[in-house]
Amino acid sequence: MSGVAGEATNLFQATMEAAQVGIYVMGDGRFIYVNPFMCALFGYSAEEFQNRVGPLDLVVAEDHDWVSEQLALRAAGVPGHPYEVTARRKDGSLFTMSVLGMPARFGDLPVSVGTVLDVTERKHAERRIRELADFDALTGLPNRRLLHDRTAQMIAAAERDGNSAALMFLDIDHFKRVNDSLGHSIGDDLLCALALRYSAVVRKVDTLARLGGDEFIILLPDVGAATAAEVARRLLESAAAPFSVGGHELTVTSSIGISLYPQDGHDIDTLLKNADTAMYKAKEHGRNTFRFYSTEMNTATLERLMMESSLRQALTAQEFKLHYQPLVCLESGDIVGAEALIRWCHRDLGMVMPDRFIPVAEDTGMINPIGDWVLLEACRQAQTWIASGLCLRTMAVNVAPVQFRQAGFVEMVGGVLSLTGLCAERLELELTERTVMHDAEVTLGTLSALDRMGVGLSLDDFGTGYSSLAYLKRFPVGKLKIDRSFIMDLETDPDDQAIASTIINMGSSLRLTVLAEGVETAEQLARLRQMGCGMVQGYHFSRPVTAERMTELLRDQPFRYRH
Ligand code: C2E
Ligand code: MG
Ligand code: MG
Repeated sequence: MSGVAGEATNLFQATMEAAQVGIYVMGDGRFIYVNPFMCALFGYSAEEFQNRVGPLDLVVAEDHDWVSEQLALRAAGVPGHPYEVTARRKDGSLFTMSVLGMPARFGDLPVSVGTVLDVTERKHAERRIRELADFDALTGLPNRRLLHDRTAQMIAAAERDGNSAALMFLDIDHFKRVNDSLGHSIGDDLLCALALRYSAVVRKVDTLARLGGDEFIILLPDVGAATAAEVARRLLESAAAPFSVGGHELTVTSSIGISLYPQDGHDIDTLLKNADTAMYKAKEHGRNTFRFYSTEMNTATLERLMMESSLRQALTAQEFKLHYQPLVCLESGDIVGAEALIRWCHRDLGMVMPDRFIPVAEDTGMINPIGDWVLLEACRQAQTWIASGLCLRTMAVNVAPVQFRQAGFVEMVGGVLSLTGLCAERLELELTERTVMHDAEVTLGTLSALDRMGVGLSLDDFGTGYSSLAYLKRFPVGKLKIDRSFIMDLETDPDDQAIASTIINMGSSLRLTVLAEGVETAEQLARLRQMGCGMVQGYHFSRPVTAERMTELLRDQPFRYRH
């Protein structure tokens, strides 16, 4: 090699050897030249590399499509932009590589000249910076910045889907005392331990963030007041057991304020501010408790929570009682049956009626043990009356939808009958249209099994639900109870008259007994008699009464027609 050309080659060689970046020349899908740095980067010798290794050998399979596309673009003369792929060394180890290729010509051959860099370190650093920016360094929880992002996302989604959401402001009670008396490092350990316990309470989709100090924020997408209250209760409970930090046994409590989207605010600042206000209300209320921002929420959910927790103890504390209302045969005036109606004798609230607590019991699943108790008690009472010589054809027991659908319901009914000795024909289960319509196939199976046992079935509150006539034919129902709302204005409202008489006629043509609920006046009774109604129940005869009073009514038969 001579003169200027030799000088240029030497210069090129020296430059390439000194470069601290991988440099390549690629043509026809193979590496024509790679510099020493690039050989070292991938662990190949120059001989192994040049003309043998192709670009796809250097990247993981997932990146093949992308790299092939880039190669085609360079071959077509299109300049490249730096891009990142996962590279594979000769020994199989991986790293993140940044590539920049440019089209060029090498004699007649179109080539691509480019540089590659190992950017693994930079990637790590970037990730760490992101973590520092988004997460609290002490607890590792999302910080204020990330909380803002997530809240904005949550509000956008809630707005789109018409969902509600809750934001909680949680502040540790008297945390300053821990810091002041035991030092900041114990305080820090305590915060971490608390963060762990709180994390275990919230769901995956929730965000538990730390705003600094002893303040935590919990973001709960897709929840309403009741669930938020339940989560708050569990958060308070989770901190109840003492913490052991730095050789100290510490007990802490916290106060929680809750704001609800959308009623308490449409943006994070308002929601935070209102949750903060509510948190101070919780502090004022003696700490270790939670409060909603809006007052109505407090009273509604607090009563409900109170009811829920005392409902759990009501069974064992024997606070339930059954009252019985006579079912009267319209033709003879005889009391031929009784409907069992539950009452809750609450320590503070006094007598609580079923309409107030049955829905709560249904939501919490408490209805199952309560319903089992009702059935047992009613059957036991019916058998007592029958054994003492009183005539009682039917003991009617209300069954809630959840209870009816619980596994083993039929077996439970069978068990109660054999335990009490009550004959199955004496028991009548009252179901609403909503209960039987829920899942017609399952319902039919259960109803048929009960029917085969000999248990009677009646449709309660008839006329208020779906009122589909088709299922009256399909389901083994023996009785229809016309809802009180149609009886109330029977004397004056022609629509109600039409409905009542239609139900009565339809019932008789389907050979079903029809009972009118809520009969309060002699006029209503007279109308029903004209219409040919079979049975009646209501205050005109008797309110629901205690078992003792019902015994007297059964014995005296005060409504029987005497000539
Ligand atoms: P229901 O089964 O339709 O019971 C009839 C309700 O109407 C009873 O209310 C009864 O006291 C009331 N009532 C009867 N005659 C008259 C009347 O002439 N005028 C007026 N204004 N009301 C009358 P109660 O005892 O408050 O029960 C309400 C509902 O609670 C019941 O409606 C039933 O759905 C449910 N329930 C009661 N006991 C139980 C139970 O043990 N289990 C379940 N799952 N639900 C029950
Ligand atoms: Mg009923
Ligand atoms: Mg009813």
